[in-house]
Amino acid sequence: MQTVAVNADTYSDYLEDGKDFIDDATLKAALAAPAPAAERVREIIARSLRVSEALPPEDTAALLAVEDPALLEEIFEAARDVKRKVYDNRVVTFAPLYASNFCVNNCLYCGFRTGNAGAVRRKLSMEEIRAETEALAGRIGHKRLIFVTGEHPATGAQYIAEAMKTIYAVKVPTRRGFGQIRRVNVNAAPMNVPDLETLKAAGIGTYQVFQETYDRELYAKLHPGETPKADYRWRLYVMHRAFAAGIDDVALGALFGLNPDWKFEVLGLVAHARELEARFGIGPHTISFPRLENADGTSLPAESLKNVSDADFKKLVAVLRLSVPYAGMIVTARERPETIREVIGMCTQRDASTRIGIGAYSERYGSQEADRQQFMLGDTRSLDEVIGELADLGHITSFCTSGYRCGRTGDHIMKLLKSGHESRFCKLNAVLTFREWLDDFASDATRAKGEKLIRREINEIRERGAHFPPETLKLLEAYYARIEGGERDLCF
Ligand code: SAM
Ligand code: SF4
Repeated sequence: MQTVAVNADTYSDYLEDGKDFIDDATLKAALAAPAPAAERVREIIARSLRVSEALPPEDTAALLAVEDPALLEEIFEAARDVKRKVYDNRVVTFAPLYASNFCVNNCLYCGFRTGNAGAVRRKLSMEEIRAETEALAGRIGHKRLIFVTGEHPATGAQYIAEAMKTIYAVKVPTRRGFGQIRRVNVNAAPMNVPDLETLKAAGIGTYQVFQETYDRELYAKLHPGETPKADYRWRLYVMHRAFAAGIDDVALGALFGLNPDWKFEVLGLVAHARELEARFGIGPHTISFPRLENADGTSLPAESLKNVSDADFKKLVAVLRLSVPYAGMIVTARERPETIREVIGMCTQRDASTRIGIGAYSERYGSQEADRQQFMLGDTRSLDEVIGELADLGHITSFCTSGYRCGRTGDHIMKLLKSGHESRFCKLNAVLTFREWLDDFASDATRAKGEKLIRREINEIRERGAHFPPETLKLLEAYYARIEGGERDLCF
């Protein structure tokens, strides 16, 4: 287990005059500035729409300071425009796979914390992970998942790597083809470089770690004791270590609600994105903004759950969308369906049919129960229902995982995203993977909605000739027919 003294060596080279990249004084000064004039807001929006690097703190703070309802509407509309420009009408769905709730840390807000004596602790065996994967890939129809664990020596890099191997090996017959998890992302404790190299070698998709809060004093209060998580900078520099280990697909997040000054967390996330851009030329692949939920065995004041209202939430999602225009944005099933509907047009990913009890998909230990669950969910609808609703709203669900497998990550993907060229591959792959899902898993009602959407997408592809040359269209048609015949995993 890391100690604070060992950790200092791992980030000292990155510090400037002993300081890290969260410059509290600058961020707080930016937040103290008065609300901007409408022209300035429109000028910032125009820059965001050019989809370049992340905005400087003063600009993000200016957007956050807007209270005028009409101007706020312009911000929301612009956030949806940026999403459409970079990612079109695609939404990617995934599921979390909670593998273990053993944890050496004592984060005051989490049901897995070591101080929660009421939690029944479990760690899934490889056999159990296979059963979970079979349920996700064979019954529900997911193609990507995020593997989640507490921090514990028994669930370190070796365990996660073995689990990834197990997951990738599962292939389940479906109605017309077969189901398979094609991308495993990981949300686990910050690791050292050799451990991250182990995950890289095992085929990790995205490595995701949330800073929880960028406010160092609050961070210290929420992570008491001599635990690994108590070291703010060990966590803050984890993505630097990921890049050193060859992982160039990284994801940031903050747990909104911990800090009553939630605007500071928005600036922290954007500062983090800017630091990665400046150091490595590559920003985060995604940003998450989970909101604090009730959890058994935690000891946070009840008011914490009210620190970020629904209106604040919508605003922070929009401002993050505009501030880091190239990044994917993940809204989670912690939120209720009505909240998700408000922001989904600004987001690129969501989880669905989510269960966060250990072994919950295969109902290994009975159905979802509070004693093994990290927190309470807001949206427990099935993937089929979610996809049907997304179709109603005009979004196509993409199960595409080819970007990572064809080397479209890091620097390469950043260029494609900023130039708007990513959509060439993604639009085609969305159609192909959605076809697979409709044939293998959809209910009759969702299938009917999906068919309509696919026809519309194919027409759009045909109409955008310059984007899609004749040979690409021919290949699309050939792949489409082969998929209808039961072949799987054909992509651009
Ligand atoms: N243990 C690893 C860590 O802390 O980085 C990763 C797994 S942890 C289960 C994943 C995330 O869940 C945490 O980073 C935190 O942001 C979030 N989380 C913890 N407690 C929560 C709560 N009560 N409500 C919502 N999200 C919570
Ligand atoms: Fe453990 Fe992560 Fe929960 Fe903290 S947030 S108690 S590190 S599982």
